[in-house]
This record gives sequence, structure tokens and C-alpha cells, in this order.
Amino acid sequence: MSDARPKPIPIPDDLTRPFWEAARERRLVLQRCATCNYYNHPPRHACDACLSQQLRFEPVSGLGRIHTFTIMHQRDVPGFESEAPFINIVVELEEQPALFMLSNLPISERDRLRIGAPVKVEFEDRGNGEIVPQFRIC
Ligand SMILES: [Zn+2]
Repeated sequence: MSDARPKPIPIPDDLTRPFWEAARERRLVLQRCATCNYYNHPPRHACDACLSQQLRFEPVSGLGRIHTFTIMHQRDVPGFESEAPFINIVVELEEQPALFMLSNLPISERDRLRIGAPVKVEFEDRGNGEIVPQFRIC
């Protein structure tokens, strides 16, 4: 018998709501500065590059490369008990150097895993309309 807990779902706030609303429509948008065009992720109150507060959300390609990874063996992460071991990856999106997002991969992807591997966003349905962007090797 399984005592697995559900995976975490997004809890949007005023800063992150546009990101999560777009994800529900299976679109990836990131906060971008209207003054200098720098992407900020996670969303900020002021641009990391120029401190402007003129920030908006824009669609991005959803394409990137694996910047780094780790294998997660811990079996008591809520919602992920039955998936361990799995792979945590840091994705660098193609839009900007050091524009990073986190994701995970099934352990079945281990043979294809390497730094620099190309990835593409996919959208994981966690039930009740909650959608979480994830990346997969392409
Ligand atoms: Zn800026």
C-alpha cells in the first residue's frame, strides 16, 4: 500500500501569478525588463540588471541546455516518493546567459543525461488544472 503524498502545486502570489497563469495555458512566459530587456527569473520587484520597476511578462522559446544536474536518491520528498531516484536539472534557457530554471527528469533519462544536452519545456499536469513547466531532453 502506498502512502505517497501529492506533488506540490503552485501557490501564486502577485509577483508570480502571470507565470503560473500562462503555465495553466501551457505557455512559458518570463518576466522581462521593459527598460533594458533583461529577463529576470524568478520574478523580481526590480530588474536585476538595471533596477527598473518597468517589468512585464513575455513568451520565451522553452528551449535550453542542461547547465548542471544531480541525482536525487532521497525517498521522503513529498510527492516524489515513488519516483526516486530521479534527476534534478538546472536548465539555462537560450534567451540569455545565466537565465536558469529548475526541473526534474525521470531516471530513465540517465543514459541521455549530459551537461549541455538540449532540452525543451513540457507541461506537467498535477490535477485540478495545476500545470508545472518541466524540461525534457530533446
Ligand atoms: Zn532592466
